[in-house]
Amino acid sequence: MSLMDMIQRWFGGKPAPPKAASGSARTAATQSTPRTPPPAANPSTTTTQGSRSTMSHHSVHIHPAVDDGVKRGSDSFTGGKLHCHCPSDKVEVTVDAQCAHNHVCGCTKCWKPEGALFSMVAVVPRDKLRVTAHEEKLHVVDPAAAIQRHACKECGVHMYGRIENTGHPFHGLDFIHTELSRDEGWAGPEFAAFVSSIIESGADPENMGAVRSRLQELGLPPYDCLSPPLMDAIATHTAKAKGVL
Ligand SMILES: [Zn+2]
Ligand SMILES: [Zn+2]
Repeated sequence: MSLMDMIQRWFGGKPAPPKAASGSARTAATQSTPRTPPPAANPSTTTTQGSRSTMSHHSVHIHPAVDDGVKRGSDSFTGGKLHCHCPSDKVEVTVDAQCAHNHVCGCTKCWKPEGALFSMVAVVPRDKLRVTAHEEKLHVVDPAAAIQRHACKECGVHMYGRIENTGHPFHGLDFIHTELSRDEGWAGPEFAAFVSSIIESGADPENMGAVRSRLQELGLPPYDCLSPPLMDAIATHTAKAKGVL
């Protein structure tokens, strides 16, 4: 399996069709919530319409948790509780660990709050995560995807993503959204992954320069796949599986 196949499997469950543009458009069109163009994709939200080169990067809304600056988290933090968005009978997930590799992600699969260009997602060891209330409200969004995203059937929030394939490079890690927690101290995002993929959700391709500049300004280096350490980890896993390392 090639590295790109592995990444596509990781995110999508199956490799993207060769005609990426039409396939992606279908993916976006079949999402259950009607999608309005994210704020940064709409030229009318800029104050310098017709002169985009002078647009303030602050008008680019990446994600509510980082738009006012990235919180770095606490070294002494040892975990907390995540809750779904239901007004009552909330699904509760308890995590007994600090998160790692927190980042904002532009892919079309990660759950993100309404209007955000990016999701924010981190990993924790799967044996440190348990559902502690209303597990009966959870379902797997796409059973064919490499990451099984367990979402609340009522409010749609993804509570955690789990990889069941023991051969997967990131098997043993669960994916969480720390914004679902009121506990303070979660490690903050460190980079931006799959930045180009926001176009697949309707972001204006011509705004990508402003988006990447804003990410740089926030201290979130933008990558169009994962960060170099994570790409190296995947490649190392693949090389070992092939016997070349
Ligand atoms: Zn819910
Ligand atoms: Zn993602």
